[in-house]
Amino acid sequence: MIPLSRREFHLFQAAGRDFLYLVPSAAIFGLDQPSAAVLNVLGNASRSDDDIVAALAGRFDEAAARAAIRELVEVRAIGYQQRPDPVLPKMLPMAAFPLNTMVLNVTNQCNLACTYCYEYGEDKIVDTEHGKQSKFMSEATARESVEFLLKESGPSRIAHLTFFGGETLLNFPVLQATIAYARQRAAEVGKTIDFSLTTNATLLKPEIIEFLAENQVGVTISIDGPQELQNRFRVFHNGAGSYEVVAPKIKELLKRHRSRPIGARVTLTSDTLDITRIYRHLTEEMGFWEVGFAPVTTSPQQQYAIGEHGFDKMLGQFRALAHEFLENVAANKHHGFSNVKDTLEEIHKGVSKAYPCGAGLGLLGVSTDGDVALCHRFAGSDAHKFGTVRDGIDRHAQRAFLEDHHVADKTDCQKCWARPLCSGGCYHEAHVRYGTTKRPNLHYCEWIRGWTDTCLQIYGELSERNPDFLARFDREEVKAEAVL
Ligand code: SF4
Ligand code: SF4
Repeated sequence: MIPLSRREFHLFQAAGRDFLYLVPSAAIFGLDQPSAAVLNVLGNASRSDDDIVAALAGRFDEAAARAAIRELVEVRAIGYQQRPDPVLPKMLPMAAFPLNTMVLNVTNQCNLACTYCYEYGEDKIVDTEHGKQSKFMSEATARESVEFLLKESGPSRIAHLTFFGGETLLNFPVLQATIAYARQRAAEVGKTIDFSLTTNATLLKPEIIEFLAENQVGVTISIDGPQELQNRFRVFHNGAGSYEVVAPKIKELLKRHRSRPIGARVTLTSDTLDITRIYRHLTEEMGFWEVGFAPVTTSPQQQYAIGEHGFDKMLGQFRALAHEFLENVAANKHHGFSNVKDTLEEIHKGVSKAYPCGAGLGLLGVSTDGDVALCHRFAGSDAHKFGTVRDGIDRHAQRAFLEDHHVADKTDCQKCWARPLCSGGCYHEAHVRYGTTKRPNLHYCEWIRGWTDTCLQIYGELSERNPDFLARFDREEVKAEAVL
């Protein structure tokens, strides 16, 4: 008889019971006692059905043990096989994948000089000072970009346009004109465009806030927290901190712009890892609806880079905040920790990624001169170019990229249970760390696996304590704003 052995899954505990995260299908399976016992008896060995049933005799009758084995085989947690699983299949997305989100870099200039910024430090990909790209996008290029989005979004009725920089609001006139133009053109072709932007908030003023509110533009503010943390890195060119300038403007924005929730996006460094304090300040004192955190992207030599110890600390704090999120949501109260909510949504939808993010697929960045690139962080880089807004997506270059970056070609990821949600991690991070977008980000695997395990536990708890909250993901009621 062919023996049984375990397949790919991650076991986790929540709400007082065991759950399996089934890696190939990204599905979650709650274990009853006989199923848990079968897995326990089997461990990492190969054993026949009869052997397992015999080992469980006295605890479960034969019918219950055999039923548990059958069920585990059906969900593919275990299987009859003599050889290890074959390597991952490499299935490429359809050839003309529709563009869902276009990130328009309306300027590559910034009025801040944040010490850690990937655009201006040693890690920069594009020379925005002396390079060939214009410093500001023209209205003509922005209009061409809108036409590009409408065309390349294919059959989708809704497309997303995100304005980005440099500091986005340095080119507010073009942003304003583009929204009017895009609205009109989208209506003419029977589509809707959803608008959003990311800004450092220094240039917000009443007319701009009014415009953003009236046009229901989603806003993400890049901010690092209370005064001393914000001023550590987010400084003007003369070195002066920006907190005193941005705080009153953000408060004004949050007071007036009520048509969409406003989110904060925090860059974490080894010097600013006080996550709970930052969260409290931004939600309770400033009034943000949501806060998303991202570790700084930089070479490990930088003193502010997050090292192994920093990732441990970050994970501990993320876990504490995620449990606060759980208690709030279980009691039907809002909590604005968007990292956990975004991951819960992916878990709920059974996301299993062949690529770490939408870059190069449903998301593309556009440089000031209209070159189309992998994402906003690569906009203007010839090495990561996918055509132009005038000539359309270079499908050949896109195909070659997708061929080269599939998770099936990332050897370490093939054996990793966190693969469905991570898939090797951000291309920009990999480019900065290893000089190539092709490498998986193996420097942060422990952090990714630890965080994914936490989110699975929160998911398991909520599936018992507030399943309605999770069901709302099906209707996308709690979908987060895109945080770039
Ligand atoms: S980068 Fe690391 S954590 Fe992510 S899928 Fe690959 S091996 Fe797993
Ligand atoms: S995760 Fe990285 S590669 Fe993907 S869109 Fe964001 S910055 Fe670009």
